[in-house]
Amino acid sequence: MNDSTVIIGAGPAGLSAAYALAREDRAFELVEKATEPGGLCRTFDFHGRYFDLGPHVFINRSPEIGELLHELGGERLKEITHIEGIYFDGKLYDSWLDAVVNLRMTSRARALLGLIARRIRPIEQVVSCEDGLVNSYGSAIYSQLVRIHQRKFWGVDPSEIDVSWARVYEKPNSIFKYVKQRLSHSGARSASYEPAQTYYPTAGSQVIYGAMMDRIEASPGATIRLGAEVVAVHHDAGNVTHIDLRDPATGEVTQVAGSSFISTIPVTELVSVLDPAPPQEILDIARSLRYRSLVVVNLLTRLTRELPYGWVELHSSDVQAGRLTNFARLSPEMAGEGELVPICLEYYCDEDDAIWQSTDEDMIALAQRELVTMGFAAAGEESVGFVQREPFAYPMYLIGYGDLRARLKEFCEGITNLQTIGRGGIYRYNNMGHSIESGLRAADNVVSGQRHDMWDRSVVDGKI
Ligand SMILES: Cc1cc2nc3c(=O)[nH]c(=O)nc-3n(C[C@H](O)[C@H](O)[C@H](O)COP(=O)(O)OP(=O)(O)OC[C@H]3O[C@@H](n4cnc5c(N)ncnc54)[C@H](O)[C@@H]3O)c2cc1C
Repeated sequence: MNDSTVIIGAGPAGLSAAYALAREDRAFELVEKATEPGGLCRTFDFHGRYFDLGPHVFINRSPEIGELLHELGGERLKEITHIEGIYFDGKLYDSWLDAVVNLRMTSRARALLGLIARRIRPIEQVVSCEDGLVNSYGSAIYSQLVRIHQRKFWGVDPSEIDVSWARVYEKPNSIFKYVKQRLSHSGARSASYEPAQTYYPTAGSQVIYGAMMDRIEASPGATIRLGAEVVAVHHDAGNVTHIDLRDPATGEVTQVAGSSFISTIPVTELVSVLDPAPPQEILDIARSLRYRSLVVVNLLTRLTRELPYGWVELHSSDVQAGRLTNFARLSPEMAGEGELVPICLEYYCDEDDAIWQSTDEDMIALAQRELVTMGFAAAGEESVGFVQREPFAYPMYLIGYGDLRARLKEFCEGITNLQTIGRGGIYRYNNMGHSIESGLRAADNVVSGQRHDMWDRSVVDGKI
């Protein structure tokens, strides 16, 4: 056994673990099935414009991560405010409360009365995401506005989704805060609804993860294997001994041994490649924990309507897309020169859906039509673009997932030199900051023998 740490997956969690080990001059191997690092946070260069995979802003609440982001991003890390809006009933709004205030009088009265009624008499047995959101927004706003987007996002009714998702999704919803804001700013947009520190690097996520990768590559102890898919994780007597890597291009299999292993790949995939295989119960759990997939259509287009937000959630059943991102609003460097604007539309789906199985050409045509429907593009105008597909984008919080996840945690913790971290690694809807932090903590466990609990809420959970 060699004294090296093997890190599986080069998304934010794996890169951060490697970065921290590089700083300590440790030996490690970083293996990644894609031919480039970044995971869900890759940035794409298309015709000289940049596209992240959907919007990827850094929402930071940790001084440690803030310092690291500044160290990596330098002057290219910019604080950004007022980035999020919603599209509802053909119009753009700053927030759902703005949309409600602009409803016709009777609908507005019904919406506000519904909200107040739920504040006075909330649903007491809160089990589902629907229960949680009805309590926050009131029945009328929930069913007219919030439910449409949630239904698209999950592909099932929010009554089938666990209440923990409602806590992640909830937007600031104090009417009093809203009224105060409108009065004090005379209706002008303000940053008061934004999280304390929201950053966007001038050329997207690549600024941060590229800088991390440069430091990792410069480390004498680093071995980096891109285009190397982990197809088996061999273990014996409660320890991983080695992994098998397959080159997807040639099919060639290589073995890599190590003394400790950090996995950032979906934990459901990890247990399915364990050798010897885990008990049937664990395999069954892994099969029943599902992910919502994502198809992102990126376009260079001529906008015919002002889009003053980084992104807008599409609370409309007139379009299948769930979110529209305007990269030019996030940073002018993303947009480069010229009239065409880099935007993307996100389609949430399952792998047996028509959306997932559509050709790229059909998806680009669909996105183009939906832009016309919403008034952002002129009919007949063609855009150029490209499509990305991500099968493990969102761990699905179906009711009951918590117990299944807890059982997987217990099983994985029985393999003592294996840490499973990151978004898919602990089956947690997280943000980049959480994954970065989990990478740093996992490396600390290796270097100084700490025992940070990688599945613990305090390390990786929090408001998105
Ligand atoms: C559309 C979208 C928008 C988002 N917006 C934001 C945002 O604005 N702000 C924010 O903070 N977060 C955002 N997130 C969340 C953010 O993307 C994740 O928190 C982050 O990418 C998780 O990093 P990770 O390293 O844990 O996982 P991943 O990025 O998923 O990395 C896992 C890596 O493992 C590799 N891998 C998988 N299987 C294997 C295998 N068998 N062998 C080898 N390698 C393998 C994958 O290729 C991947 O590179 C967004 C996510 C999505 C989907």
